[in-house]
Amino acid sequence: MAKYIFVTGGVTSSLGKGIFAASLAKLLQARGFKVSIQKFDPYINVDPGTLNPYEHGECFVTEDGAETDLDLGHYERFLNTPTSKLNNVTTGKIYLTVIEKERKGDFLGKTVQVIPHITDEIQRRFDVLAKKENLDLIITEIGGTVGDIESLPYIEAVRQFIWKKGKENALICHLTLLPYLSAAKELKTKPTQHSVKLLLENGLQPDVLICRTEHQINKTIKEKIAQFTNVSPNAVIQGIDMKSIYEVPMEMYKEKLDEVVLDKLNLSKETKPNMTSWKKFVHKLNNPKGEVRIALVGKYVELQDAYKSIYESFIHSGAFNEVKVQVTSIHSNEIEAGNVQEILGGYHGILVAPGFGDRAIEGKIEAIKFARERDIPFLGICLGMQMMMVEYFRHVLGLAQAHSTEIHPDTPYPIIDIMINQKNQTQKGGTMRLGAYECALQPNTLAYKIYGTSQIRERHRHRYEFNNDFRKQLEMSDLVVSGVNLKNNLVEIVEHKSHPFFIGVQFHPELKSTPENPHPLFVHFVAAAKEDAKSKL
Ligand code: GLN
Repeated sequence: MAKYIFVTGGVTSSLGKGIFAASLAKLLQARGFKVSIQKFDPYINVDPGTLNPYEHGECFVTEDGAETDLDLGHYERFLNTPTSKLNNVTTGKIYLTVIEKERKGDFLGKTVQVIPHITDEIQRRFDVLAKKENLDLIITEIGGTVGDIESLPYIEAVRQFIWKKGKENALICHLTLLPYLSAAKELKTKPTQHSVKLLLENGLQPDVLICRTEHQINKTIKEKIAQFTNVSPNAVIQGIDMKSIYEVPMEMYKEKLDEVVLDKLNLSKETKPNMTSWKKFVHKLNNPKGEVRIALVGKYVELQDAYKSIYESFIHSGAFNEVKVQVTSIHSNEIEAGNVQEILGGYHGILVAPGFGDRAIEGKIEAIKFARERDIPFLGICLGMQMMMVEYFRHVLGLAQAHSTEIHPDTPYPIIDIMINQKNQTQKGGTMRLGAYECALQPNTLAYKIYGTSQIRERHRHRYEFNNDFRKQLEMSDLVVSGVNLKNNLVEIVEHKSHPFFIGVQFHPELKSTPENPHPLFVHFVAAAKEDAKSKL
């Protein structure tokens, strides 16, 4: 039987519950336990696929095609194993299941209520992944902050679940904040006390407290917190701000978080965590031998989280290449022919980001043209790849009005067009081309060299694709189709023959990069940027 760890958060949002859950999972995995992490989000959307990145950051796509919370990206990056649709549950999903059962007549004669029906369905889902994957431990992160009205059914479900499973099989890690008042030069514990009180009011006693802080916590503070929250002093863990999220697992090891958890769950602490390859990565990350500058051209630049996995992929591939990758996000609205040199001239690589809709498109095309003409390493992802093709058809193949029908439905040259099976799609939720698909790589191409194999699987999230009616025009050109899906002949990778590194992919390589397995496309892109930097010295 699996053991269960619940992670809740109090005082404020953005405490990094996902990173702490992932760090604890990493340490437990490194001790040899079979562990996974799941996220329960208290919003009513069935999944975040219909949310704007401004609302919810990046939408992370799993192998099996679920649109999920970006925390799943952290889970995959830390554990170096893929997640699935089972790893993310929302209130929307819970209600949908319960309402469908009600319509079927499963509760015939009964009033369907939050308690017990919603809380029962939540509890059923706490267990699904653990059972299916035969896990030793499952960490469940409860989204939101304790005290939110919408979190209440989850908190009640945790209470009932722990009561059923027994204290030795389930525990609660609660994250809180210790604010520092500079006027008083003091860390304050009161918000933590209050947030634990709130949990207690709902019948939950936290077993471990992770106190987020900008300053070291001394023994007196730990004891004070312990005394007022009924938590043992050794289970009051300091969660100090780190330079990088990737340092958090070893920091948690120093704080003995994993030991405390194993003790409480009656599990063996004998095997020490094997963190060798992780530590090697962190060491390389902290000791770069040079620097490259990459421009990330997109439209959600105000928000780091919108391109989370892309930023993280650069961290992984930078460490691999032993350089610091300085990523600057640039709003494509700002770029035009007259200023592109001034804006992008100083970069060693340009990435054009994924995206939807017609906003700020021309700046992307301008950036791509600049990269192509100046031999600057370029990577186009999804919409970035589509615009790479538009740019080429417009400026090299002479179809000045070439466009994607997503942006210009009446273009005379629809070189990017809606996929056939998307044409009659009226539902917006979960209906894109989603998840991992096979792609065959052509020999003697950059893509083939990068991957070192002829068959790959990458994750998708799009409705449009290259229009094969225009494929013939490419045959005589320098733009080579180097990856295709053989089942339906979709163009998945294109590259420029006589450019040092100019490649566009219809899929999202950033979703598969991890510290211990940096994605080859990013690794080679950064290597090309390194070359570019060298040549500019
Ligand atoms: N909007 C484009 C499409 O739907 C690209 C999607 C993306 O960049 N993820 O095909």
